[in-house]
Amino acid sequence: MENVVIIGSGCAGLTAAIYAARANLKPVVLEGHEPGGQLSLTTHVENFPGFPDGILGPELIENMRKQAKRFGTEFKAGVVNEVDLTKNPFTIIAGKERYETKSLIVAAGASARLLGLKGERELIGHGVSTCATCDGYFFRGKPIAVVGGGDSAMEEANFLSRYASRVYLVHRRKEFRASKIMIDRARANEKVEFVTPSVVEEIVAPDGLVSGLKVRNVDSGDLREITLDGVFVAIGHDPNSIVFRGKLDMDENGYLIAHHGTLTKVPGVFIAGDVQDHRYRQAVTAAGSGCMAALDAEKYLENLAHSEPVVTRTERVV
Ligand code: NAP
Repeated sequence: MENVVIIGSGCAGLTAAIYAARANLKPVVLEGHEPGGQLSLTTHVENFPGFPDGILGPELIENMRKQAKRFGTEFKAGVVNEVDLTKNPFTIIAGKERYETKSLIVAAGASARLLGLKGERELIGHGVSTCATCDGYFFRGKPIAVVGGGDSAMEEANFLSRYASRVYLVHRRKEFRASKIMIDRARANEKVEFVTPSVVEEIVAPDGLVSGLKVRNVDSGDLREITLDGVFVAIGHDPNSIVFRGKLDMDENGYLIAHHGTLTKVPGVFIAGDVQDHRYRQAVTAAGSGCMAALDAEKYLENLAHSEPVVTRTERVV
């Protein structure tokens, strides 16, 4: 029986682990399908406080992992495929392993959608990015493209125009999913050029660094090659919340909904990081909510210890 199981090993999960481990709770971290989360897919991180010269994303994650391990966190490989939250202790099934735990922190993150082009994933950190706030600064004075037609794409195009010399906004349709005000702002921006209705056929990177984009106009069939240094893929995120469907509250896009900080409708289950945040999505905000979740779990376990023996949630409600 565990005190606390943490699902996810990104910034939120690892920060939760550091706090829970230092509270002597001996947390178990289930690493998930993308160990280290989105930071492990980036290169330089310049906006995480405490690193005046920046730090590589994988190095930052490795440091957090070491810090969590030093205080007694146990790491387990495996993707969670089933959870039973109807009674405490909760049951978590990850592959062939089964865990029973008094409390659970869900920090499973969200995965940025990619276009599915050849070499795209390998080029993340070498010209391809899924985070304008993180990487915009690296493209000062350079032409870049944003792919997508939602609010994120519009927001990122405007944000990136502060740095980039030109922003090509590539979208597969003439109509946009984005709200009118966001589209109008992008259209009014002299640096932003709309490239529609166009699909990206290839990210050009002959030397392992992005140097261009081949886009095909879906109406005319014309192929255009744009010379640029960066491609920001802004076609949405998918929260890793499928196993919690029907078990925890979530919005229509699958983001878990927190009640009062990191609490959920199930006492003893806490949520942190991008799996419950489609707004800020920053390493530092994920870390902050991971800390909050661990403090909430600690408090919950303290109260539970005073009310042993363990009772089911339904009994407790009654
Ligand atoms: P989104 O609204 O789901 O839009 C995704 C966009 O990417 C759509 O235009 C879609 O094209 C395109 N797309 C999806 N898959 C694609 C593919 N494989 N190839 C090419 N294009 C593809 O996602 P989002 O923009 O990230 O926004 C998510 C949520 O956050 C929304 O509710 C949004 O309103 C909100 N948000 C709000 C703000 C704000 O208010 N400031 C800022 C950012 C986000 P189609 O339209 O053709 O399907």
